[in-house]
Amino acid sequence: MSNGRPIPVRDGDSTPFWNGVDQHELRIQQCQACAAYVFYPRSICPHCFSDQLIWNVSSGRGRIYSYTVVHRSFGPFEQEAPFVVAIVELEEGVRMMTRIVGPASQVKVDAPVRVTYERVDDDLTLPYFQLEETR
Ligand SMILES: [Zn+2]
Repeated sequence: MSNGRPIPVRDGDSTPFWNGVDQHELRIQQCQACAAYVFYPRSICPHCFSDQLIWNVSSGRGRIYSYTVVHRSFGPFEQEAPFVVAIVELEEGVRMMTRIVGPASQVKVDAPVRVTYERVDDDLTLPYFQLEETR
């Protein structure tokens, strides 16, 4: 726990992902048998059941698939509200739950975003997303 905050467990499947985050790389798996991208980390492809999964570095770009603005929170997150929790669909086609940093009023479905890294403390960095500047 860091400041009472629940921290991700690095297990056999997810350790390469978290090691990537530590190095500011967003790593996702790709199946060598059917070419599908896979997220969250796992040992078997959910599309074809192959165990031939390799790690690639994502572009870190995607779009907001869905989101909510948290106005009231509790425990270790109480002081952080309001904040935006979103499901981001990466260019590679996988979706991940994350946070969007920046003004909540500008967040909207389908807005383009890119990954950014939030250093929580010495032991924990999290992949968040920020809105791309639109021209
Ligand atoms: Zn597959």
